[in-house]
Amino acid sequence: MTVKENLHKIKNDIPDTVTLVAVSKTKSPEVIMEAYQAGHIVFGENKIQEMVGKWEVLPKDIQWHMIGHVQRNKVKYMAPFVSLIHSVDSLRLLKEIDRQAQKNQRVIDCLFQIHIAEESTKFGLSEQELQEIIEDNEFQQLRHINIKGLMGMATFTDDMVQVRQEFRHLKGVFERLKHKIPEIDILSMGMSGDYETAIEEGSNMVRIGSSIFGMRNYPGN
Ligand SMILES: *Cc1c(COP(=O)(O)O)cnc(C)c1O
Repeated sequence: MTVKENLHKIKNDIPDTVTLVAVSKTKSPEVIMEAYQAGHIVFGENKIQEMVGKWEVLPKDIQWHMIGHVQRNKVKYMAPFVSLIHSVDSLRLLKEIDRQAQKNQRVIDCLFQIHIAEESTKFGLSEQELQEIIEDNEFQQLRHINIKGLMGMATFTDDMVQVRQEFRHLKGVFERLKHKIPEIDILSMGMSGDYETAIEEGSNMVRIGSSIFGMRNYPGN
């Protein structure tokens, strides 16, 4: 199957209300162009430098999403163009995003990443930590970030009962946050192996890589 065929298949599978982020990490600009030419413009990357390199050479109407762990000292490189940061996991990071957004005269859309998996290797906040951030005065003063919702990654397992429980938990955190920040409207959950379950549990943004572009060449990415 070609990239174009894979994209059409997934778009047919998911409701129109769910945004598809094509995860293009490790894939070349040429491969990304195949998806672009098939009409797709929303792409996700997990490394800032790699995303910047692709942004420089690819069409400027592409919307670039940062889905990987963000180091504060690299925020400045993506601040001019990033369209959504899925992986905010501290107030310090959010403050740096705000600072760099201001320098670029932008407001940057962000999601908080919530830790829902069993594995401790995955990044993200607990609900308690999320609570502390949004109650912090410093948070309430940030004017150049816009909180749009939450992101989470389920445990890497074939046990779909567990995966479903983790997504359901995240949806609960989302609903509770919505009482405090009514504007939030993005729940980013679901990847190639679990997006159908994620959508059943309330996801409206899925991040899909290998089912579109094929297996990645090296593990851990
Ligand atoms: C790599 C990655 C994805 C996509 O994974 P696939 O299994 O290839 O669909 C989604 N979200 C994050 C945060 C990722 O790092």
